Amino acid sequence: MIEVKNVTKKYGNFYAVRNINFEVRDGEIVGFLGRNGAGKSTTMNMITGFIEPTEGDIIVDGYDIERKPKKVKKLIGYMPEGTPLYSDLTVKEFVSYMADLKLIPKKEKKEAVKKAIEETGLEKVQNNLTRNLSRGYKQRASMAGAIVGDPKILILDEPTVGLDPKQVIEIRELIKSFRKNHTVLISSHILSEISQLCEKVIIIDKGEIVAVDSTKHLEDNATDNITLNVVVDDINNKFLSIKNEISEIKEIKLLNENEDKTKEYLIETNSNNDIRKQIFSICAKSDITILEMKKVETSLEDAFIKLVENRPEYSQKEIKKMQYEKEIEELREEEQAKKEEKANKKQAKKEEKARKKAEKENKKEAKKGEEDK
Ligand code: ADP
Repeated sequence: MIEVKNVTKKYGNFYAVRNINFEVRDGEIVGFLGRNGAGKSTTMNMITGFIEPTEGDIIVDGYDIERKPKKVKKLIGYMPEGTPLYSDLTVKEFVSYMADLKLIPKKEKKEAVKKAIEETGLEKVQNNLTRNLSRGYKQRASMAGAIVGDPKILILDEPTVGLDPKQVIEIRELIKSFRKNHTVLISSHILSEISQLCEKVIIIDKGEIVAVDSTKHLEDNATDNITLNVVVDDINNKFLSIKNEISEIKEIKLLNENEDKTKEYLIETNSNNDIRKQIFSICAKSDITILEMKKVETSLEDAFIKLVENRPEYSQKEIKKMQYEKEIEELREEEQAKKEEKANKKQAKKEEKARKKAEKENKKEAKKGEEDK
C-alpha cells in the first residue's frame, strides 16, 4: 500500500505539487492522470525516493520513505519516463545492474534476471546493446529493470509514450499481465490508456488532486445532461425545428450529410430527461423518418475535461499569500496555546498554594486540639 499524506514539493517558490493526499491499496491498478506539467513525475519521483518532499509523508507498506529508504526501494519497481537505459550495456547487463541496485542477493540474482527477461519477452535480444533496440524493446527493457526481483509495487511513468500503436498494445498487454500480483501506479496523460488498464483513477491538475474515483463512476458522472445521436430521413429539412418544441434541447448540430441524403445530428440537452419519446412523436407528425437514435455514452475524457477545465487558476503570488496566511494562522494558534498553558500553570500554582495553606491550617488546628485535650 502507498500512502501519500499532505505532500508538497516546491522548486524555489514554485509549487510542483501542493498538499496532495491519496492511497493506492494492495492489488490495485491505479491510473495517475493529468496534463503535461500537472505534477505526475514529481509525485512518482517522491514515492520512489528519488526526490524528497518539501513537506508531508510518504508511507510504503508501512515504511516511511524518509526513515527507511532502502526498505522502500526494495519494494518498488520503477519505470521512469523516457526509458533512461545505460546504452553501453546489453539488455541482460542492464537488468542485472538494476538487480544490483535493488540489493537482490547474489544467489537469487541470476534467476531473477532470467525471469524478468522472460516476462517482458526479451529473450531474443538479451545480448544486444540497449542503444540498438527499437523504441518498443527499449520500453520493455526498462520494464524488465522495474520488475526484476518481483517487487510488490510497480510505478510506471508514461509507459507507452512514443510507441507506435502495435507497441502500445504489446506494452499494455504486458502491464495487464502484472495485474494479478502487483500493486501498480501508472501515470499517463492519455485517457484511453487509463480507462483500459485501471479501475481506479487519481486525477492531478496544476499540482493538486482533483479526483480519486473509480473509472466507471467518473464516466457515469461526467455529465448530467443527455446527448443523443440521431440519423434521419428528412426531405423537407424540418428536423432543426424540433428545437422549438422541446424545451430541454440546448443545441442541434449537423454532423454528417450522407450520400443517400440522410442526415446525422447531435442533440445536446440541458437535462437528464429522456426526450426520445417526444422526438419520435414530433418526427412522426412532421414526416421525418428516424433511422437511428442512440444516447451518446460519456467517456473518461468528458469526466476529465469537466473536472479540470473550470478550476480556478491561482497565481504563484496568490499561492504564496495563502501559504503566508496559513503560517500566520498557525503562529496565532501556537501563541494562543502558549497563553493558555501559562494561564493553566498559574492557576495550578495558585491552587497548590491554597492547598498547602489549608493543609498547614489543618495541622495547626489538629495540634491545638491535641494541646487543649
Ligand atoms: P508531469 O509529470 O505531470 O508532466 P512534472 O511533475 O514533471 O509534471 O512537473 C510539474 C511541474 O514542476 C512542471 O511545471 C515542471 O516544469 C516543474 N518542475 C519539475 N521538475 C522541476 C525542477 N527540477 N525544477 C523546477 N521545476 C520543475
